[in-house]
Amino acid sequence: MSDTARSFFYQRSKENGLRITPQRTAIYEELLKAKDHPTADDIYRRIVKKIPNISFDTVNRTLLTFSKIGMTKVVEGYGQAKRYDPDIGIHHHFRCIRCGRIIDFLNKDYDDIAVPKEIDRQFTVTSKKVVLEGLCGKCKKV
Ligand SMILES: [Zn+2]
Ligand SMILES: [Zn+2]
Repeated sequence: MSDTARSFFYQRSKENGLRITPQRTAIYEELLKAKDHPTADDIYRRIVKKIPNISFDTVNRTLLTFSKIGMTKVVEGYGQAKRYDPDIGIHHHFRCIRCGRIIDFLNKDYDDIAVPKEIDRQFTVTSKKVVLEGLCGKCKKV
């Protein structure tokens, strides 16, 4: 992992009283590498190859903790398993309705999108994200 990622990981962990363990470091590292918005199961299957004695429960709990302290985001569920997003910066998603792939994209206009007045009056908006749905390049061909 890069120096920036490492110092972010150390700092956030410290601020939240989370001990840095080799397992947690490995889970964070694996998450950072993922570009596919993986589920806890995806991360578990990747990591168990390197740390054979790690349990799914540890991976699952660690990811939930990471999301609670803002080290990862959770992509909205759609009734399926939670999917994690290591990119906590502002970005948007294209989601394929056939294969479930979630692809990141950046768009300045979407970043600046205005919150509707009636929403703003009733709720406190803490983040905005545009999700576009449709068929990805692979699925379009089928
Ligand atoms: Zn697709
Ligand atoms: Zn994303």
